[in-house]
Amino acid sequence: MRIAVIGGGPGGLYFAYLWKKRHPEDQVDLFEQNPADATWGFGVVFSDQALEFLRADDPETVDAIAPHMESWKNITLNLRGESVEIDGVGFSSIGRLALLTILQERVRSTGVTPRFDTVMQSVDELRGYDLIVAADGLNSLVRRAFEGDFGTSLSYSSNKFVWYGTSKRFDTLSQTFVKTDRGAFNAHHYRYSPGMSTFLVECDAATWAAYGFADKSIEESQAICEDVFAATLDGHRLVSNKSVWRNFPWVWNEHWSFKNMVLLGDALHSAHFSIGSGTRLAIEDAIALVKALETESGIGAALARYESARKPIVQKLVDAARTSAFWYEHFPEHMKLPLLDFAYSYITRSGRIDDFRLRAMSPAFMARYAAAKGQS
Ligand SMILES: Cc1cc2nc3c(=O)[nH]c(=O)nc-3n(C[C@H](O)[C@H](O)[C@H](O)COP(=O)(O)OP(=O)(O)OC[C@H]3O[C@@H](n4cnc5c(N)ncnc54)[C@H](O)[C@@H]3O)c2cc1C
Repeated sequence: MRIAVIGGGPGGLYFAYLWKKRHPEDQVDLFEQNPADATWGFGVVFSDQALEFLRADDPETVDAIAPHMESWKNITLNLRGESVEIDGVGFSSIGRLALLTILQERVRSTGVTPRFDTVMQSVDELRGYDLIVAADGLNSLVRRAFEGDFGTSLSYSSNKFVWYGTSKRFDTLSQTFVKTDRGAFNAHHYRYSPGMSTFLVECDAATWAAYGFADKSIEESQAICEDVFAATLDGHRLVSNKSVWRNFPWVWNEHWSFKNMVLLGDALHSAHFSIGSGTRLAIEDAIALVKALETESGIGAALARYESARKPIVQKLVDAARTSAFWYEHFPEHMKLPLLDFAYSYITRSGRIDDFRLRAMSPAFMARYAAAKGQS
């Protein structure tokens, strides 16, 4: 079989690696528009067990990545200068470039040489391939070329966000909420290497307008964010990587394949950064696609199986991500709550955790919350 993979992000790289490793006789060509060492953004975070979901099938990759990860067991919320820890909510993180570099090495180890600096301009360039895997991210060329056939929908969250790094090291995944005279800001921040942290700043549309960010340069926006979060940054600067304000895009496709083209990862669906699952979803899509192709003998049947098996799982997560994003769209309102009520509202925001589960997961926080509510 001849397979073309467009996109050298986590989804495309992992698919190319897994397929070629298991089917060395097949031809796999991977095209990536950027150079090998280019990346946007800083670190990515994984919820819970990080990459443990890969361990059963692919312990080598987990062992290659794990030493480069930072991990912690609690979340810290900072509001009005006070802090509350929610125990038992484990996360791990890694620099996006570190993750891609490891995955690139895994791909090369199978004999595939990714073609970097190669922009696919049109799907027509890929005639002759039996299968085209579109792992080409949020602005997928393949998806845009056949939007009607994929049943694509695209909408945007109203909040604005901008993704920075900083040399300030944070002990846990933290969320800091700050009220100013012109509105409210929120930062998601966590370390992803011993010396660097991600620092994602978010605000609602009203605050964004009040600060006139539409007319500010990258440097001016950064200076304002450094000022708003001066206490949190503790003398450290923000680091920009083409850091511009954006609205989070919600991508969904009713049909996951068309002819011999199949979507995976961000090209197929987006999941809000507040639940930290985009990278994991892309890798899991790749695994599901490989399994479907191995189970069915024809490509059409395999692509149908990929969609029917995986869609309900992704749909659940996307629903949770939407509920979580909705909470963030109203965070200035939530900030008016007393600290522990605010923390409770935060941790239950996606609707996936009830009190019973929360007591088991976060006993220290729930004991503090119950005491504050006068419950035993
Ligand atoms: C602000 C922000 C914060 C995030 N935080 C997290 C987080 O904490 N945790 C997490 O798991 N996820 C996070 N994500 C999401 C995560 O980055 C994505 O979900 C993940 O990278 C998806 O992987 P992918 O392989 O599908 O796509 P991508 O990583 O986007 O890769 C697509 C690749 O395709 C290439 N490409 C596109 N078009 C072409 C073309 N025509 N020709 C050749 N190459 C092409 C691109 O250059 C790119 O390298 C965040 C995203 C954002 C925007």
